[in-house]
Amino acid sequence: MKTMTCKQLGGACDLKFQAETFEEMAEKSKMHGMEMFQKQDPEHLEAMQKVMALMQQPEKLQEFFDQKRSEFEQLPDDK
Ligand SMILES: [Zn+2]
Repeated sequence: MKTMTCKQLGGACDLKFQAETFEEMAEKSKMHGMEMFQKQDPEHLEAMQKVMALMQQPEKLQEFFDQKRSEFEQLPDDK
């Protein structure tokens, strides 16, 4: 189990997510992002706009995910 914060995943707050795999982590971060989007939280909306801009450029988006994935891989496992 590894822990990453919303900020580490390109978000805007210090909420922690725990997951076994990067895919699970990305999913949790996405769910949280959608929740914050529904609440129209300004900081998350701004962070999300950056990710949306990345989505227009598949290679940039891939780069972003690869970078987050390697950050995840390098984290120590929670005991
Ligand atoms: Zn957040």
